[in-house]
Formats: sequence, C-alpha cells, structure tokens
Amino acid sequence: MMTLPETTLARPAYRATHCLLCRSNRLELVLPLARSAVGNEYLHAPRPQPKFARSLWLCRECGNVQIEDVVHPDLLFRSYTYATGHSLGLVEHFRGYAREVAEDAGTSPGALVVDVGSNDGSLLRAFQESGYRVVGVDPAVEIAGRASDAGVPTLPEYFTPELADEIREEYGPASVVTANNVFAHSDRLPEMAEGVRRLLAPDGVFVFEVSYLLDIVQKMLWDTVYHEHLFYHSVRSLRGLFGRTGLELIGVRRIASKGGSLRGTVQRAGGPRPADHEVARLAGWEEVLSLHHPETFARLGRRIQSAKEDFVGLIDRLRAQGKRVAGYGASPTVTSLVSEFELAGRVDFLVDDNAVKQHTYSPGDHIPVYPSAALYEREADVAAILAWNYAGPIAARHARFTERGGRFVIPLPSLRVP
Ligand SMILES: [Zn+2]
Repeated sequence: MMTLPETTLARPAYRATHCLLCRSNRLELVLPLARSAVGNEYLHAPRPQPKFARSLWLCRECGNVQIEDVVHPDLLFRSYTYATGHSLGLVEHFRGYAREVAEDAGTSPGALVVDVGSNDGSLLRAFQESGYRVVGVDPAVEIAGRASDAGVPTLPEYFTPELADEIREEYGPASVVTANNVFAHSDRLPEMAEGVRRLLAPDGVFVFEVSYLLDIVQKMLWDTVYHEHLFYHSVRSLRGLFGRTGLELIGVRRIASKGGSLRGTVQRAGGPRPADHEVARLAGWEEVLSLHHPETFARLGRRIQSAKEDFVGLIDRLRAQGKRVAGYGASPTVTSLVSEFELAGRVDFLVDDNAVKQHTYSPGDHIPVYPSAALYEREADVAAILAWNYAGPIAARHARFTERGGRFVIPLPSLRVP
C-alpha cells in the first residue's frame, strides 16, 4: 500500500534507451504491453495516477529482457509495508532455505550472512537460530527499523558497492550473501553485483532467486511484468552480468516460487567451486528453445491477444445479458491484467481477501475493491478470477457462490469456465 503524496518526484520515471546490464544500445521492442499505473498503488481515495510504459525490450547483445519505463524506486519501495514473516508457512520455508544454503555453501556457524532486501528479517532469523552472524539491508525504513528492534541488525539503505565496503569493514567478509526477488528491482544491478563481489569472502557464495524468463514465456506469466520488476532474467543474461563483474554463476536450479523462478549460486571468479553442469545445460536449453529470439515474444504476444479476445468477448456477452461481473484479486498482477485486457468498465468491482486491499481503488482505473463477501452482498453473477494462479483455492473457498448460481471465469493461461 502506498501512502506517498501525489508525485513529489521531479522525474518519476525514465525510459531506458540502452541495456541496463551491458550498456549496449542494441535494444529491440519485442513485446508491446499496455501502459499501467504502478501496480501496487491501490488508493484509499481516487486521484489521478500516471501510467508508465510496460513493454518488454530485448538486448540483442547480452540477451537481457527489461521493461521500458524505469520508475523511480522511491515511488515503488520507499513506503513498502509488505512483511514476509506474517505467514507461518513462509517461516518454515525460510528455515528450510537457510539450511539448504548453509549446506550448499559448506559454511559453519559463526560465519557472516548478509541478506539484501531482507524485509522483516525472516530469512536472517533462520540463520541466526543456527548460530550465524547476520546483517540485513533493506531500504524500506519502517520495516528495517522493526527488524533491528527485533534483533536482526538491518541497514535501511539501498545496497551499493560503498555500503558493501562499509559492511565488510565493520563485520568482515561474508560467507553467504542472499537476495530473494530483489535482484530484478534496481536499475543499478551491475553495481549491486559489484557490491556482492566486494563483500564476499574468497570462498563465499551469493545465492539469489529471480523470476525465470523461460517460465514467464511458457506459462503465460506476462502479468508479472510490472514496474517493480525491471528485468526478466535467463541463465544467459545472468552469466553475462556476473562474468563482467568478476563473478561466476556456478549453479542454477528451477524452483516453483512465483509460478517459476531460478535459484542461482555465484562465487568470485576463480573461486574454489567447480561450476555445476546444470548451468551449461539450461543455457543450452534456452538456446534450443530460441528464448532470446524476437519471434518467441511475438508468439507470446499472439497468445496474449487471443486470450484477451476470448475473455473480453465472453464478458461482453454476459454484460449484454445484464449479468453483474466481479473480478477476484487486487494485486500488481491484477493491475497488469486489467490494463492489458481493458477491464475498466467491464468489471463492476474487485474483491480481495487481503484486508490491506479492501475498501481501496485499483491503480489507474479506480475500480473499487471490497472483501470477498461482496460477491454475495452485491449479488455478482460472474466472478472472473483475475488472480488466476490461485483459481483452485479461490473456487474451493467459494463453493457457495456457484451453489447460488454464480459462475467463475478464469482468463489465463487460456479461458476456462469451470
Ligand atoms: Zn545487454
């Protein structure tokens, strides 16, 4: 939830005209997408919100895929209040993750672990429980303060080479540096990688998770393209980035998080570990699938267009019959979907089970958001599950809706009316 006053920044966004990873200007527009407001900027009272370009550009030099408009990070993250530790399942997840990373890295208690984008310190707490020294870095001032108060020392800063030097000065070199889902968030990613290089011990490892471009393309996860995510990484683009920074990508694993992600392991160039065969194998697979070819994105564009025509066609027919249509979900991906499928004026209201989103207005289009009870109270005939990745649990939780004659409609990966 954003609480910032109306754009106070002189330059809320700029258009990237070169590759933000390798500086090449050989950028090609490969996936035109509709402009949208900042995806998570749900409002308590409607006010005009700027819309920013969301199309994807491919670097023909290094294979990097990046979003067109780079929105100022203060507009995206300064008042970020998402706290990971709130969910019990996630705490267990972080314990398991900490155990795996420590095993992979071959480190022992007492070593230093630094988490970049540490949020409320959930991951670091898991390391702490096992006897590691920990330092967090997170620019969200309020969350960083709370993490420090709770015993996880957290610097309320953006991670830069200079900050890395300061941490190393005070705490010594890091055996493990982690970054989960923030490694696509900064237009200064090469500097962030440089910070990692400076902070790592000679035998230290950097472990990160990012959304995987191959999953985005294959599983129609294009609605995860929004302004918090500047980069859509592949093994090829990551290998290049680390190679240019004096680092080496030595391990990759495909994981299920966010619909399809990569977990990568990196060491300083010439470090003690041999590279896992999976790195070359997956890079080869990307080649076989023409992942970095414009035609791959053109095909994705056609699939999006066809899914839009099917879904919007159905909604328009239902509305013509006088049906009342609600949308289920109020998240940044829903903002992407509403913009791309032009759903403003087609859905009467949105519902969401997250209390923070209830009684707000959607970014840019200002569709009202209510608790899911509104499906019944406001007598929706149709509920379009815009948070389609959760279609199963949502439909199960609202069996009563269909029993009362309501219909669920699922727009992606292709139209379904269960
Ligand atoms: Zn590039």
